[in-house]
Amino acid sequence: MTLNDLSHMYSTDEQCRALLKKLRWPYGVECLRCKSKKVFELAEYAKFECGECHYQFSVTTQTIFHDTHLPLETWLMAVLLLVEARKGISANQIKRTLSIGSYKTAWYLCHRIRKAMQDVELTMMDGTVEVDETYIGASQKGHSKPGFGDSKKQIVVGIRQRGGDLRFFHAADVKAGTLAKYVRETVSEDVEVIVTDEFNTYPTAFRDTPFAGKHKTIKHKSKIYVDGDIHTNTVESAFSLLKRGILGTWHRISAKHLAAYLDEMTFRFNRRKNPDLFIDTLRHMITADPLTFEKLTA
Ligand SMILES: [Zn+2]
Repeated sequence: MTLNDLSHMYSTDEQCRALLKKLRWPYGVECLRCKSKKVFELAEYAKFECGECHYQFSVTTQTIFHDTHLPLETWLMAVLLLVEARKGISANQIKRTLSIGSYKTAWYLCHRIRKAMQDVELTMMDGTVEVDETYIGASQKGHSKPGFGDSKKQIVVGIRQRGGDLRFFHAADVKAGTLAKYVRETVSEDVEVIVTDEFNTYPTAFRDTPFAGKHKTIKHKSKIYVDGDIHTNTVESAFSLLKRGILGTWHRISAKHLAAYLDEMTFRFNRRKNPDLFIDTLRHMITADPLTFEKLTA
């Protein structure tokens, strides 16, 4: 899907609603209250009524698209811009590109879409997995101003299966227990090799786990970066993409929202070969519980 396709196929409210209807109810419209399939379309624009309980609703009822002042066409454009932007796109850019009235509206729009760009079903990683940690914000070289609203550096743990998926975690610390928890959540016990640098917490983190015998270390301090298959280059390249995105596009991210940005980046990264990313994200948005999106500013 390109912007050009989008502006041809979904340029009216009616076309957008037809798409959302197909994504929300692939097997036919269903009553939101009693689940009955005996649903009638009302003469009133875009309204349905249940033939059993007489509940009236539309395709956007009980979704994040409800109560929005933005046209659906704008929502769809924003989704496409966000899923296509490899390094991310700022709320300011969205505001300008889509002629949205206020920064706050654009910010909200972006955050709601980001919330939908989260993996719901994760597969455990196997094969060769690289684990590494990095520090973002505060006193990064060449930046006199903090990259973050908060003055503290933020820790990001990255786990990447070579040739496969990527996960980022906004970590509170790099203690053995914390690292072990992320690895257990992400990596299958059938993994062949786990590669890390020589950071001495990793052996402790893997002790007494199925990963202990599979752990290989690359000695960065001895200036060895690649030793055959033993390297952490693919997780490091993911970190540099993240940092370029944060410094170049998002400018200032508060620590509070960092996890959402990490999810957005990995969601897009893990679907880099998926041609249906736009539709997948939209489907998630129209089928997710709107409460998922309301915790945003809590
Ligand atoms: Zn009903």
